[in-house]
Amino acid sequence: MIRIVRSPEPPALQNVRVRMLAAARSALNAGTKIPFAAYDVVKQDLATMQHLKCCYCEKREEQAKYRDVDHHRPKAPYWWLAWTWENLLFSCIDCNRDEKRDQYPLAAGATQLVAEQQAPGAEVPLLIDPSDPAFVPTKEIEFRREKINGKERWVPYGLTARGQKTVEVCGLGRAALLDLYAWHVVDIVRPKLADVFRAVENKDQPAVFQAWGTAKRGLLNPARPFAALSHDAMKTLVRADLRDEYRLTLEMPGS
Ligand SMILES: [Zn+2]
Repeated sequence: MIRIVRSPEPPALQNVRVRMLAAARSALNAGTKIPFAAYDVVKQDLATMQHLKCCYCEKREEQAKYRDVDHHRPKAPYWWLAWTWENLLFSCIDCNRDEKRDQYPLAAGATQLVAEQQAPGAEVPLLIDPSDPAFVPTKEIEFRREKINGKERWVPYGLTARGQKTVEVCGLGRAALLDLYAWHVVDIVRPKLADVFRAVENKDQPAVFQAWGTAKRGLLNPARPFAALSHDAMKTLVRADLRDEYRLTLEMPGS
């Protein structure tokens, strides 16, 4: 998970919000079901803002039908935020429908918003909002290399209580993702680092520096899939003493 820089609210959402909030209040008064619809008007805006990547797992999703408009604060308890731009993200259907669903954990003792109250109020969320500038996702979740059943795996760990809960709620360590993470490191990260190691073997300092720069540009650009994983894999696979020796810097990815 990396920081997402939120683009300005698409004007089309404003009209939708006015109309749908009126309909939601009427439904509540009448004791009928709130019509949750029409937020899809920003679906493409969210995908573009996020470089077609799920806000939680960083998987790239080419097909619009597999892209969900995720209500970060779920629409069931937080119906009045269902058309609020800051509450909307693009998430893959696996993270949204199979894992996160209606979960929005708060720290013990924190008070949940009351109806029509604007976020964050006195809430202390235990779920990272990658578009909230108050969070730095890459400092809360770290990928560690492990051997599982004899295979190299990259497993996300929460470095904070919020990071731990986010991994759990979004299922960021689910088996299907562990496969994708492993393939990403083997197919994408390691070949880029091979150029670095080749130059190290030749003790060619300028070539090491150049290969490292190329690897960073290719892997840590926020538009690339699994950029946070790439960062942590680079940190693990190119040891700190080697990075120090060649003065290779490693910046956190962010959009
Ligand atoms: Zn996802």
